Amino acid sequence: MDLQLTKKTALIVASSKGLGKAIASQMAAEGCDVMLTSRNAEQLDVARQQLLPHAKGRVECHPCDITRLDDIQSLVAVTRERLGPIDILINNAGGPPGGGFEQVDDVAWQAAFELNLLSYVRLIREVLPDLKQRGGRIINITSSSIKQPIPGLILSNAFRMGILGLSKSLADELAPYNILVNTVAPGRIATERTAYLDQFKAVKRGVSKEQVVAESLQNIPLKRYGDTEEFAKVVCFLASGASSYVTGSTLMVDGGMVKGY
Ligand code: NAP
Repeated sequence: MDLQLTKKTALIVASSKGLGKAIASQMAAEGCDVMLTSRNAEQLDVARQQLLPHAKGRVECHPCDITRLDDIQSLVAVTRERLGPIDILINNAGGPPGGGFEQVDDVAWQAAFELNLLSYVRLIREVLPDLKQRGGRIINITSSSIKQPIPGLILSNAFRMGILGLSKSLADELAPYNILVNTVAPGRIATERTAYLDQFKAVKRGVSKEQVVAESLQNIPLKRYGDTEEFAKVVCFLASGASSYVTGSTLMVDGGMVKGY
């Protein structure tokens, strides 16, 4: 299957590690020109060096804190300057802190809004002029919590639903420009984030991290955590020319963990 990604320009957000880095790696290997970004410039450069040997397209990186509008604006400007107009935006972010309703205060709610919802809005707004001229893809990374709330993760449960509403609305509004907007929902893909959450739960419950992992696996029909590459391949398909009749969809990549339809 020809993914038609060669010479496309992709801006992949929160991509120095974890899911974002794996997506960037996969897309660069398919011939895309990719822009990596996150806050830590050193980690970004390490990620770029790791991607280069397998990349068939150009790999650039530029630091950005996506909770800052001026950072987002300069990231988009630098991407255009170095790689040309943007065809594909992969929206992604660090996860919000764990905690149930009574553990999170207004400061945490505001920070999670800025990181996990407003940043997506702002990035789409800044990239939109390119996409409207050429058509393209917006892929919003969320969480399995959009189908099944995760106990003790109220901030994720609340703001990911906002992304879902945003994606579905934009799929309709932007279809006349041939801009396809989809959501991908990971569940238990092994990254630093999953390790942090397992540790967080273990400490809260006074049990070992191994026990938390074993309990998680019981709820996953495939009986293992996913690999970042498995997740990245799904995103790569949605970013590609092969997904030309898919918009407004949500794809779960969770090993069957979510029990709803
Ligand atoms: P991760 O391994 O913790 O990576 C997070 C990435 O986000 C890093 O590159 C980090 O780099 C960057 N980042 C964090 N805050 C940022 C900011 N303010 N500005 C720019 N970049 C920022 O997480 P992951 O597992 O890849 O997950 C990615 C997203 O999917 C998260 O929102 C997570 O909650 C969600 N998710 C993941 C899973 C899973 O199974 N892995 C499941 C459900 C949901 P810097 O710290 O250097 O900025």
